[in-house]
Amino acid sequence: MDFDDAANLAKSLMAEHKLRRWVFVFNRGKRTLGMCDFTRKRIELSMYFVTHNDEAAVRDTVLHEIAHALAGEKAGHGPKWKAVCKRIGAIPKRLDHEAVMPKGHWVAVCPSCGESHRRFRRPLLGRHYFCRSCGAESGQLRFGIPTLSGVD
Ligand SMILES: [Zn+2]
Ligand SMILES: [Zn+2]
Repeated sequence: MDFDDAANLAKSLMAEHKLRRWVFVFNRGKRTLGMCDFTRKRIELSMYFVTHNDEAAVRDTVLHEIAHALAGEKAGHGPKWKAVCKRIGAIPKRLDHEAVMPKGHWVAVCPSCGESHRRFRRPLLGRHYFCRSCGAESGQLRFGIPTLSGVD
């Protein structure tokens, strides 16, 4: 699934279930599909997971995490959490948190010349990257993780 679509889906489900003051973020986890961070009030999805799964799977995961947020940290995967799952339409089962997600390095396609740029290390937050041939104005790069078939 596309990152933007996944983020929009997660945000709209969070709004629908009245998770006020909670935010949605992506993470780079390779072993967990989604995460509910009670301390920071964040629902997180793995970028790897999103890239390699369809909308139905992303929706199930978001609802699973929303149920955690609504049920509270102490509920774990117990009866209280399961009751919330039933109410909001989440599958009341523990997720397969050990799913192996494929490795990928970071790829960005220059919006101006279409050349693909690769990084092996995670792009730094808040830092702007740009295509050397096109410059900072027209060649802004946004790195993502490629699908299994790659972006080339
Ligand atoms: Zn869970
Ligand atoms: Zn370029």
